[in-house]
Amino acid sequence: MTGSRAWRSERLVRDAFNDAFRSWGLESVTRPLLVSGHCRDGADAIAERVWNGAGFEIEPFAVSPDSWRRHGRRAPLRRNQAMVDFVAAQRDRAEVLCIGFAARCTLETCHRIPPGHVTHGTGDCMSKALQAGIEVREVNDPQLPPLRSAS
Ligand SMILES: [Zn+2]
Repeated sequence: MTGSRAWRSERLVRDAFNDAFRSWGLESVTRPLLVSGHCRDGADAIAERVWNGAGFEIEPFAVSPDSWRRHGRRAPLRRNQAMVDFVAAQRDRAEVLCIGFAARCTLETCHRIPPGHVTHGTGDCMSKALQAGIEVREVNDPQLPPLRSAS
């Protein structure tokens, strides 16, 4: 999974996980593994809490202090690639899926197009997963602020 720090809805996280399990067939979900960026707020934290609550296993991919020092703002993007590579490597023995819990970018300093695009780290991880041929499902929270005015 990937997701925005501004993400708040635990219900949509549970729903997305349950939908994934149903689409695989509940009887084939024997040892589900959550791959998470391990951010302490937002979607990562909510997803890990839900997963832990079910007693399932988590593979955390936190950005290390050393990686922050060496790569600065690019450190999370490198981490995203490591997560995607890890998941892609499981494909011959497991069903894999990337779920993006995507809030809208509200950075005042951001001039990316279109306005209202998803937060950058989440968008980056979803596009890296797509490039790796992994199925991606984007989940949006209707309670989060919608498109920001373009002007
Ligand atoms: Zn932006």
